[in-house]
Amino acid sequence: MSLMTSAVRKPLIAGNWKMHLGLAQSVDLAKAVRDGTTGSPAEVAVCVPFTALSVVAEVLKGSHVRLGGQDLYWEAQGAFTGEVSAGQLCDAGATHVIIGHSERRRLFGDTDEAANKKLKAALAAKLIPIVCVGETLDERQSNQTFRVLETQLAGALKGFAPADLPPVVVAYEPVWAIGTGVTATPAQAQEAHLFLRKQAAKLYGEGFAAGLRILYGGSVTAENVDNLMAQPDLDGALVGGASLKAPSFSRIANFQVTAKA
Ligand code: PEP
Repeated sequence: MSLMTSAVRKPLIAGNWKMHLGLAQSVDLAKAVRDGTTGSPAEVAVCVPFTALSVVAEVLKGSHVRLGGQDLYWEAQGAFTGEVSAGQLCDAGATHVIIGHSERRRLFGDTDEAANKKLKAALAAKLIPIVCVGETLDERQSNQTFRVLETQLAGALKGFAPADLPPVVVAYEPVWAIGTGVTATPAQAQEAHLFLRKQAAKLYGEGFAAGLRILYGGSVTAENVDNLMAQPDLDGALVGGASLKAPSFSRIANFQVTAKA
């Protein structure tokens, strides 16, 4: 059972375009997502490459679709070649930002401490942060899943005033499910989400936990989204591969759940 009904948590379906698409393709996809998701029961967002933020912002202006970056750096400005600040994201039209994605952790050395600093910077800039956590296959197979989730969540959420935290979104993204075509079963996802919600309650209280949106990410498709979203502690999805095609992403954003399990 969920700690609390999900009725208070507006679902969020966010696409992560990763390092894909040129400007013309980005504009076309953004237009198609905008027009294909008007009936979505969720908040819909696309997290696009830095270079495409401004042009996609123009397409999405005045629409229901929100715009996100895929990372940020915690300093406001300075000699940090290649980095992008929270203020620069806002300036380009972003309202959301992904933090601590497993590809950032695995390929670029992002740590829990970095995620924590990025989260502070994102919240200070009034961006909605999507903080990613998740275990590798080895960790799952050696029964380390809960320990990893506890450590990553506590590390990212360390040292905040409770009043600052309501905008935070957490994404449970098992690394073994990202880009592999192997999706967590609804039961596996629900188990991890409920665990994360209980950890959030331990850290910042039941009120925070009950309102915390926890997304699932890892090979979400048009075919499996409805069963995943029927789980009581799944409050949306972070979608990689299937967000690059408007029909699949739109179908995901327009998921159909009659009643939570
Ligand atoms: C992701 O990159 O966050 C992701 C979940 O990718 P995919 O949907 O392709 O597994």
